[in-house]
Parts: sequence; structure tokens; C-alpha cells
Amino acid sequence: MSTNQAPRRIGFIGLGIMGRSMAGHILAAGHELHVYNRSRDKARELLERGAHWCDSPGDVAAACDMVITMVGYPSDVEQIYLGAAGIVERAAPGTLLVDMTTSSPSLARRIAEAAAARGCHALDAPVSGGDVGAREARLSIMVGGAQADLDRALPVLSLMGPNIVLLGGPGTGQHTKMCNQIVIASTIVGVTEGLAYARRAGLDPATVLKAIGGGAASGFQLNVLGPRIIAGDDAPGFFIEHFLKDLGIALGEAEQMGLQLPGLSLARKLYEQMAERGLGRNGTQALFKLYES
Ligand code: NAP
Repeated sequence: MSTNQAPRRIGFIGLGIMGRSMAGHILAAGHELHVYNRSRDKARELLERGAHWCDSPGDVAAACDMVITMVGYPSDVEQIYLGAAGIVERAAPGTLLVDMTTSSPSLARRIAEAAAARGCHALDAPVSGGDVGAREARLSIMVGGAQADLDRALPVLSLMGPNIVLLGGPGTGQHTKMCNQIVIASTIVGVTEGLAYARRAGLDPATVLKAIGGGAASGFQLNVLGPRIIAGDDAPGFFIEHFLKDLGIALGEAEQMGLQLPGLSLARKLYEQMAERGLGRNGTQALFKLYES
């Protein structure tokens, strides 16, 4: 396939909290969509709406000219792309591969190299905006790779969100996502502590949120997760165990650069305490539990 041809058969692998909504927008736009997920039941709704099931990531790659992945961990990404009979091995030359998982910059570079060796094109394109952003097609997408490949991916990526930014070569999308997670890590600690303080001071937290949610403290963590904290709703929009994965990648990268990030280290310590209590499958807003005890 020539590099300027628009993708026609699109594959989507990983249909969890984020992927299911993102794939749904592609289907709603009328594209031919081929899907795979480790647990098939999560594909049911998309299959009822006309998506085609494939039996493995390699089968998706063989059937499509653009493959998008949104799985959990770097180990999942490595397995589906670089494993035997995986995406890179089964994709036809010219196929466009877009990993939207939050994963490591070095793995993104390895995938781009392996893809290029097979005549394929790879982008790392992690996202920000949470479960709400995925549902409402309002994600921010941070891209590493070649401009020509992004140009080809754009009609599909823009179905998931309006803010799509190319940062540089392979791995730079993932580095940018780490910047995002570093900002979020200290912010969610601040939101949690602000609401814990409100409660201890005898204030009504919902009224406090009304007062400060439109000022300089406003943002996704306060305005979207704040109400969940107040309602005691710990359901995952973003799993604590995934956040810990991201904090580990960011701290590892920072260490390699000789950069100290004490705020990030503190957030990781707090979230590790949550995981030790068996709360890793809760949403990140459940951090509030630490301040209740
Ligand atoms: P999730 O609900 O766990 O979804 C991941 C999906 O990938 C699951 O359905 C899982 O299958 C599937 N999967 C994992 N390994 C696979 C493999 N080897 N082959 C096929 N399918 C596989 O997680 P999520 O919240 O959607 O997050 C996905 C990624 O986006 C993570 O890297 C996360 O850090 C990142 N992210 C999340 C958010 C958020 O707010 N949720 C926001 C931005 C970025 P099973 O169903 O069998 O588990």
C-alpha cells in the first residue's frame, strides 16, 4: 500500500475501558473494523454493531492496513507486536501500526525499528482524557513517529479526539505521556488532600468543590474525580495498577536522565500503599481512602 493512501480496513486490539469506546467511534464513522481482545466478551457489543472478530493480534494485522492497539502494560504491547506470529510478523508491507497504550519510550522505538525492517510504519500515540474523554471523543493524542505516517493516520485518530500533536520521532509520544502522568501524579495528591482538609474542617466538600472548581485549582482531577471522591465512588475510570505502571516508567526514565522528581516519588509511595491493601483495581480517585483511616 502506498504511504499516502487512506486506511480502509482498520484493526483494533484491546477493548477495555478506553479501547471499547475508541473503537466504537471508528465503527460509528462507517469504517470496516476488525477486532481482538484477550477476553472475547468485551468485544460483544462491537461485534453486534458490525465489527469482525479475529482470533489473534496477528490475524488482525494480516486483515488490515491500519492496526491500533490499546492494551494494558508494556509486556502486553511487546507480546502482541514482537511475539511469534504477532502484529509485526503478520502485517503486510505498508501497514500502519499505531500503539495508543501508555507504554515505554524504548519499546516504542524497538517496535518502530522492527516495523521499518518489514516495510511497515509505526506511531506511538498514547492518549489523555480518561474514560470520559474516550467515551466523548475528546482525547488528547500525543504522537511519536513520522509526519507522513501521522498524516495517513489522522482521519482515523481524529475520530477519537481533536487535539493531536506530533512531538518528534518514535518514543516521543510516550515521553510526552510521561510528562502528562507526572503532572497528574502530584495533582491527584493535592486534590485528595484538599478534600480531606475540607472534611476535617467541617466544611461540606461538595460546596467546597463548587467554590474552588472554577478557580485556579480547576482541572480534570478536581472537577471530574473530585465528585467521584465525594460520592465514595471508587470504580475505575483509570486503574491504580495502570497508574503505578506509568509512575514506574516515568521514574525509570527520569533516573536514566539523572533527574530527581520527589513529587512523583511521593505519589508512587502513596499508590503503592493502596496496591498493598489490595486496591489496585480501584480508580485512582480511591487515594482518598488513605486519608480516611
Ligand atoms: P483495560 O480496561 O484493562 O483495557 C485493556 C484491554 O486490553 C483489556 O480488555 C485487556 O483484555 C486487553 N489486553 C491486554 N493484553 C492483551 C493482549 N495481550 N492481547 C489482547 N488484549 C489484551 O485498561 P484501560 O483503562 O482501557 O487502559 C488501556 C491503556 O490505556 C493502559 O495502558 C492505560 O494505562 C492507558 N490509559 C488509560 C486511561 C484511563 O483513564 N483508563 C487513560 C489514558 C491511558 P482483558 O479484557 O482480558 O483484560
